[in-house]
Amino acid sequence: MTFPPLREELRGLAPYGAPQLSLEQAPVQLNTNENPYGPSEACVADIAAAAAEAARGLNRYPDREHVALREALADYLSRDVAADQEPISPAQVWAANGSNEVMLQLLQAFGGPGRTVVSFAPTYSMYPEYARDTHSRFVAGRRAEDFTLDVDAALGLVRTERPSLVLLPSPNNPTGTALEPEVVGVLCEALGEDGLLVVDEAYGEFRRSGTPSAIELLPAYPNLVVTRTMSKAFAGAGLRLGYLAADPRICDAIRVVRLPYHLSAVSQAVALAALRHREELLGRVDELRRERDETVVWLRDRGLDVADSDANFALFGTFPDRHAVWQRLLDQGVLVREVGPEGWLRVSIGTPAEMTAFREALDVVLDESGSK
Ligand SMILES: *Cc1c(COP(=O)(O)O)cnc(C)c1O
Repeated sequence: MTFPPLREELRGLAPYGAPQLSLEQAPVQLNTNENPYGPSEACVADIAAAAAEAARGLNRYPDREHVALREALADYLSRDVAADQEPISPAQVWAANGSNEVMLQLLQAFGGPGRTVVSFAPTYSMYPEYARDTHSRFVAGRRAEDFTLDVDAALGLVRTERPSLVLLPSPNNPTGTALEPEVVGVLCEALGEDGLLVVDEAYGEFRRSGTPSAIELLPAYPNLVVTRTMSKAFAGAGLRLGYLAADPRICDAIRVVRLPYHLSAVSQAVALAALRHREELLGRVDELRRERDETVVWLRDRGLDVADSDANFALFGTFPDRHAVWQRLLDQGVLVREVGPEGWLRVSIGTPAEMTAFREALDVVLDESGSK
């Protein structure tokens, strides 16, 4: 026996996470898809006041049902409903510490031993971990060459595997690919009463105009779940606040598995304050989308392959030795992410100054290697 007496299948595994380097080691941090713009002083002051108010009641447990927060999130999500659709109601909303916790709760409630979770690679590398941690079987289908989802292949996999959950990010991480809206309906129909389709819209606010949110399809499909987060467009990665919209019966099922008082009074108060400042916090999204489109064009001008992106990052390549390119960028102070299929790298969209630094550093690397 080896100590500690860890579950057999967890032995030797490394924890998930991108390298977290100091600003001295990597002044230009473009590796975790954060919003590069922090809050204004006015917003900081309002958040601090909200935290102080919450502190006055810290001897008491927080509102287990986070009612005020669910109301504010429902109101925020309702901007994405279709013209003839009812607004999202607080009963359809559930929040937790990051959409990672929301996703884990979904698997705790709907996955488990004897149940199957399906996703389509390359995709978010946390999905297999939620499955492992809940003893669910994980099956990964493949995306097409251009990282889109082939509907027939996806349908085929759903019919043979009969999953309890299908996890599909839109836009997808790490490729930036948005789902075709038709796919959502087709998969929900195929899953029927036996499975849920979870559309992970962590990057939903960055989608290109004309790409609808799966929020519009909630009235049609009771087995559709749409997850969101305040970590990306909302410039609140440090806050740890994720949420979902779905049929109220799905929220009730999660209540059974959630830990008591999972969302602290401080998290709830701070998230509410951030939601009051949403115009400001989301104010740079259009700028980031523009910068993203320019980055994609610039990379293609260099002869590189770049996946079409609806998110705040771009996947580019391919390099015979991507680790060497990653390291040479880091030597110049630019940290990107070594992730996705072999040969590709992912860069998050930063400020104009950060993107200039990225372009200059990559040009140096491309010159060194002669071509791409
Ligand atoms: C970043 C990301 C999330 C967000 O996680 P949080 O826990 O809310 O910070 C969720 N899904 C995908 C695909 C992501 O890339």
